[in-house]
Amino acid sequence: MRRKGLLFIVSAPSGAGKTSLCREVLDIFPVLRHSVSFTTRPPRNGEIHGRDYYFVAKGEFQRMVRDGEFAEWAEVHGNCYGTALSTLAEAREEGVDLILDIDCQGARQLRAKGVEGVSIFILPPSYSELRRRLEGRDSDTSEVIETRMANAVKEIGQAGSYDYIIVNDQFPRAVEELRAIIIAEHQRLALMIDSVSKEFNIQGG
Ligand code: 5GP
Repeated sequence: MRRKGLLFIVSAPSGAGKTSLCREVLDIFPVLRHSVSFTTRPPRNGEIHGRDYYFVAKGEFQRMVRDGEFAEWAEVHGNCYGTALSTLAEAREEGVDLILDIDCQGARQLRAKGVEGVSIFILPPSYSELRRRLEGRDSDTSEVIETRMANAVKEIGQAGSYDYIIVNDQFPRAVEELRAIIIAEHQRLALMIDSVSKEFNIQGG
């Protein structure tokens, strides 16, 4: 029987270090894959179509919404982002886990639809540290930074609906915490029972 893949739904305000954290654990677990979202945002330097995102025109994104091709989608910072149902179906088919790096609106939609997943919210150590990190990026204007700070307050307000919280203060420690969550979820009875029941007669599984 094919292993049941898990969905790890990871959200964080911009600047909390979510992308780097996800990248680290993707290197650790071969069974884990990054869920490639569709977006109307133009690619940034170094981003590759099909690896980082599927970059599509607004019209194509709207057609996909109309045709019900998304498990969830949302407008974030003026661009549209969505997870295709086909992405989830392919992972299910192959028995691999997915990391969905999505915002709170998307996570809420999946919860409302009853999609099973393990949700993790990444927090910065404090608002002042978040501001310091955003300012350190150099690439953003002060207006953009203020918008991101205001959005961060809203997003952090949603953290109470998640299963796990990680405070990304010391990066290696945050990686360890995310790794520990993934390992613990892999050891759940529901996932283990099929493989161990060939050898052991376990009641109640
Ligand atoms: P960025 O443009 O910096 O890559 O992503 C901006 C925000 O969009 C991040 O918070 C990211 O988690 C979110 N995002 C990326 N893909 C999706 C998606 O498929 N659905 C939703 N709801 N949010 C997404």
